Amino acid sequence: MEKREGEARDVYAELGVKKVINAAGTYTMVGGSRMSERTLAAMASAARSHVVLKDLQTRVHERLAVITKNEAAYVTNGAACALHITGAAAIARRWGRPHASLTPEQTAKCEIVIHRAHRNPYDHALRLLGVKLVEIGYPNSILPTTAKDLELAITENTVAVYYFFMPPGGWISSGALDFRQTVETAKKYGVPVVVDAAAQVPPVENLWNITGQGASACIFSGGKDLRGPQASGLVVGCREFMERVEATAFPTYGVGRMFKVGREEIVGLWSAVEEYVAMDHDARASWAEERIAALDRAFRGSRNVSVQRVYPNEAGQPMPQAIVRFRGFSGLSGTVSAHVLRRFADGDPSIFSVAAGEDGVFINPMTLRDGEFDAITQRVGEIEKEIEMKGECAQR
Ligand SMILES: *Cc1c(COP(=O)(O)O)cnc(C)c1O
Repeated sequence: MEKREGEARDVYAELGVKKVINAAGTYTMVGGSRMSERTLAAMASAARSHVVLKDLQTRVHERLAVITKNEAAYVTNGAACALHITGAAAIARRWGRPHASLTPEQTAKCEIVIHRAHRNPYDHALRLLGVKLVEIGYPNSILPTTAKDLELAITENTVAVYYFFMPPGGWISSGALDFRQTVETAKKYGVPVVVDAAAQVPPVENLWNITGQGASACIFSGGKDLRGPQASGLVVGCREFMERVEATAFPTYGVGRMFKVGREEIVGLWSAVEEYVAMDHDARASWAEERIAALDRAFRGSRNVSVQRVYPNEAGQPMPQAIVRFRGFSGLSGTVSAHVLRRFADGDPSIFSVAAGEDGVFINPMTLRDGEFDAITQRVGEIEKEIEMKGECAQR
């Protein structure tokens, strides 16, 4: 039933590249999410003809703004790229000139304020801008950043405050000033707040709520749960800031020219966001709950396998996921989770997941289909049997 047109040609088989079941969630390392057949068809349709790119961008960006209830929208080739492009736009805004016309000295004068608690590997995209990153606060829970800390960090050279939006339960550290106060304080000084919410849908409402609370721009990854093309990203925001983004980004010459977005991605992301907003998110969450409950039932009473429901997930999204924990192994050289991940990866079909501590692995329903859940349940059952057999050998 899952056989579809377009799957007639199996490129991965031709290349000898193993397909994997993605039980980890929207991890870019295994291709994030899967596009719908409708979105794939939209991309194929876009690829077949030439259009004037600016015309296409204008139309798609208008539609995306309406769908996401924002004044303006822009399609980039990823959320990381959107961090860089919005930063370049903020620099251009500070000088009131096109980004490409600025000297290195003018750029070097600019400052971006960022919470220490928010520092993460994606902020290379900001470091590369050539501006000064001004850090505030500490990543801990006993000494949270205050509005005064932010005020003291803002100078005439501040071009933006970057904020990583993740609800409690997600992997970002505590200690940052809360979002509402960040926006209020920055607004007092006319400094735009740009939010990295790359993996912050679901909830779908974040597409409009974050800018609704006063962010000048908010960034989402198109290749994560939005289920657009892997190499796509979405920026939404207020018209004034987004005009700068548009003037800085592709196909404008300058830094934006490096971040080419094809007409396939532009159309693909539009199609995906349209579907995402129309999707029955409650039904999807119920499905995830049912699948986790079924996984739990399958190993109830097992001596060596237990299933734990976690909520929210590691990205702080309001979606349940499961941790499957194993006991009773003997003679492993590494951790139990490393062994299980290897058994997942080496089997047929190959299953990709990530460790949850030393004795467990995550099973995230977000990127799974029913048949794949069944394959995972079966593999966990096989590993359970292996533990029992080894245990019996040891006893003899
Ligand atoms: C995934 C992620 C990004 C990068 O998104 P891409 O679309 O893959 O470029 C940036 N920031 C955060 C917080 C992310 O989780």
